[in-house]
Amino acid sequence: MNLIFLGPPGVGKGTQALQVAAYAKLAHVATGDILRAAVKAGTKTGLEARSYMDSGRLVPDEVVNRLVRERLEEKDTQGGVLFDGYPRTPAQAQSLDAALRELGRKISGVFDFQAPDAVLVERISGRRTCGKCQKAYHVKFAPSKAGESCETCGGALVQRSDDKPETVQKRLDVYRKDTAGVGDHYRKAGVYQAIAADGPIGAITEDVLARVKRLA
Ligand code: AMP
Repeated sequence: MNLIFLGPPGVGKGTQALQVAAYAKLAHVATGDILRAAVKAGTKTGLEARSYMDSGRLVPDEVVNRLVRERLEEKDTQGGVLFDGYPRTPAQAQSLDAALRELGRKISGVFDFQAPDAVLVERISGRRTCGKCQKAYHVKFAPSKAGESCETCGGALVQRSDDKPETVQKRLDVYRKDTAGVGDHYRKAGVYQAIAADGPIGAITEDVLARVKRLA
């Protein structure tokens, strides 16, 4: 089974993706995570991607498509993939279609997580991540029991540079402008499902897992 999680920044699709990937034994392929790792490691791709990411713009399609194609060569993706934050443009969707076709695989379902902008801004501005183990927190909805530190490993909690308020609105605008067409692409392919994602995390997970079971 290959799934795509679509949705604007802050909608909580990353949190849901971790749960579903573990449940359905899918490789979790999050292009944002891959790009942040490349930036941290200072690779050529990372250097190229950094300025786009810091200003809330999309990294060019050819860079992201290449990273995903390389990732799909890895063995753990053969049992199924959960794509998180990819594809983000119609051109990326076409590239993914072609890559999967070559590999004899196909998309089973596309879940489009939806919530109003006010909810997204509140979720993003309170988001914190452990700088050491990457565990995710939220100052209001999921605070660390260890205050400013990670309750699992003691690492310092940090705010992603692109989660600062000045970049958040830009990311939402980019999402509406560039990513809207991706839903249409998969609606035409008959694999699209919209998910109401402004409720409690646990209820959304239940809804998503029920849908995954129906696809299996
Ligand atoms: P995310 O963690 O998914 O919110 O992604 C963080 C940033 O990485 C985005 O604002 C983009 O700059 C970049 N990025 C992640 N995925 C993609 C993608 N599929 N296409 C282009 N840029 C991406």
